[in-house]
Amino acid sequence: MAGRRDGGMAGRAGHRAERPGAGSHTDRRGGNVLGSTGRWDAQIGAEAEAPPTPRPHPEGTIVTQPKMNVESFNLDHRTVAAPYVRVADQKTLPHGDVITKFDVRFTQPNEAHLDMASVHSLEHLFAEHSRNRSGDVIDFSPMGCQTGFYLILQGDPAMDDVLSLIEGTLTDITTATEVPAANEVQCGWGANHTLEGAQGVARDFLAARDEWSTVTR
Ligand code: ZN
Repeated sequence: MAGRRDGGMAGRAGHRAERPGAGSHTDRRGGNVLGSTGRWDAQIGAEAEAPPTPRPHPEGTIVTQPKMNVESFNLDHRTVAAPYVRVADQKTLPHGDVITKFDVRFTQPNEAHLDMASVHSLEHLFAEHSRNRSGDVIDFSPMGCQTGFYLILQGDPAMDDVLSLIEGTLTDITTATEVPAANEVQCGWGANHTLEGAQGVARDFLAARDEWSTVTR
């Protein structure tokens, strides 16, 4: 997890300094991120003069709502092509540490979703097994829409390393013999689990490994 994208934070810090008042909007990136930052930032600058106006999503589609606080609320979910992994957000903390949030999408939004017990068990399994592979995992949490998860890592890892972490963790999950902490002591709904369901979800996602980097249709 040592790789870093070139020029990332320096470029964004420069943008922030040029536009006081734009606030955290300058940190937001959508879609496949690399190569889209300049266009996104330019549009934010234009938007500040006459909000809300239709604006191109970083992937080139149109979102007509005013810009919202939550990155994924500014993502046109009709345009994505699950399964995929994309950078959803990145923040620099007050002491300079960087954390990066990934949208790990398992099913096509508004067309399919995971069953809740499988979501719950995959959350437990990934949370535990991913930390056997990386010390950078901060969080792995399900989306309420049951179409995927958010993975938060410390640092600014290279996407290839992130995909390898996800692939390795899900592969470990397919051979797990139990859902970790699936009991009333360690979980808030210990009965709501399915190892077989989570393993099926993991296998389906792994089977589409070559599609993970394709974010839009
Ligand atoms: Zn639980």
